[in-house]
Amino acid sequence: MRLCILLALAVCLTMANNHGRSQGDDGSGIRAEKVKGQVDGNNYTTPDEMADAMGKWGVDLVDLDQDTIVTGKPPSKLKVRVKDFKEDKRLAGTAVGYLMRYGFVEAAVEKTEEELLDADTFIGERALKKALRKMQKFYGLEVTGEADSATLNLMKKKRCGAKDMEYEKPNRAKRYTLSRKRWGVNTLNYWFDPNKYSADLSVDDIRSEFHEALAKWAAVSHVNFVEVANAEDAHIQISWEYGDHNDGYPFYGPGGTLAHAFYPTRGLLHFDDAEDFTKGTVLGTNLKYVATHEMGHILGLKHADNSLENAIMYALYTGYSDDLQLHQDDIDGAVAAMGAGSGSVSPLGEGGKSTETAATQPTPTPGPVPPSCIEKIDAAINWDYGDGYVYVFAGDWYYRLVPKNPAGGNYLPVVDSTTEPKKIGIDGFPGIPRNLDAAVETLENANRFYAFKGDRYYLYDFVSGAVEEEGSLSDLWSTDTPTYVHGAFK
Ligand SMILES: [Zn+2]
Ligand SMILES: [Zn+2]
Repeated sequence: MRLCILLALAVCLTMANNHGRSQGDDGSGIRAEKVKGQVDGNNYTTPDEMADAMGKWGVDLVDLDQDTIVTGKPPSKLKVRVKDFKEDKRLAGTAVGYLMRYGFVEAAVEKTEEELLDADTFIGERALKKALRKMQKFYGLEVTGEADSATLNLMKKKRCGAKDMEYEKPNRAKRYTLSRKRWGVNTLNYWFDPNKYSADLSVDDIRSEFHEALAKWAAVSHVNFVEVANAEDAHIQISWEYGDHNDGYPFYGPGGTLAHAFYPTRGLLHFDDAEDFTKGTVLGTNLKYVATHEMGHILGLKHADNSLENAIMYALYTGYSDDLQLHQDDIDGAVAAMGAGSGSVSPLGEGGKSTETAATQPTPTPGPVPPSCIEKIDAAINWDYGDGYVYVFAGDWYYRLVPKNPAGGNYLPVVDSTTEPKKIGIDGFPGIPRNLDAAVETLENANRFYAFKGDRYYLYDFVSGAVEEEGSLSDLWSTDTPTYVHGAFK
């Protein structure tokens, strides 16, 4: 059962080489005696010839009787009809399927797998080569643009179902990446579907493994997890699902994709029920590991860069460890998503009552109360598109100012007495770091401002309530790059 069928072709190739024919017991191969097919306009009658011809894309053998793949063109015009991946499930397990599913094929970046499959889209060889190069670069493989054996082997590994590429500017710097969307609250209610637990482990074991996963995130960021008894009250719904389960991302049986989760604020976390989830052993798939990874997505974290194999947000399943730890990159991502500090995990106890468990490594920053007076202002901006507020950033806190004379006039704004000082990144301005160097409104969009800290900048949007762009000062000034920004004005 653990045999990975992600790559039907690899199976076919092995069989073809060893036995001169393919005879997959999982239906992924085509029986040698029946094989006749066409690849790139040439007819083939033996599996070896066909595998050689089709092999570079890992596309399953073409069966003329079924006409499952449209080729019949010179190699430079090779095209795969995306729709065929839906009609023939075998195709989903090919290299092309991998490139589509995880967002390396450009057409797949913005679409769900189902949307892509529904479209009558053809993917040409150039797009496939480009996708392969992208995937090889992402995983630190030699960038050949060919489906070589190192690439095919990596595609066989167990992994998370979330896409590696979701928009055109992936992982510019080697550090955590965040979804643009945030929860906007620090207490997240979660719910297990009582009818959809895995049968692999006892419910108690599943819950305790899961709670340890939650505690990892609550120990390093300001997030409280509270279990609730009803789905309607939950931000996060957890279940084991099988095959196509109507969210646009079907599971394809054992191996390959183990689970997937959605970014805020959809809150769905699905484990593939075809996997064998285990606890405390190298056998099967470690539940705590997968749960910790998927909860990272739920909080808003994307996959870590390929250089960070030790990060929990690395896309590939790296195996069981008896000492599962978050990487500093995971922690930085969690703090950016949920704020600094620590939170708690409160599972439902006996009789459905909430029992709080304190997180294990509290890191209490910033202080619980703002200073009695502002000693040093780091930056201030005016959002005149709204109610004409001025925001002052000082250390860990931000303050809202209103005009002293609401009718206008040249009066200095004063602190808005109707609001309390707020914590940067927790009560507002998610993703903006504390102790800023400077900030300034943009010229082209009244709803946006730049914040500067050290050698990095952050472009914040009031309307979306999120950092829309982030980078280093050298991205803004490619020559004469400043080491940091003292101040800025519009
Ligand atoms: Zn993932
Ligand atoms: Zn799902």
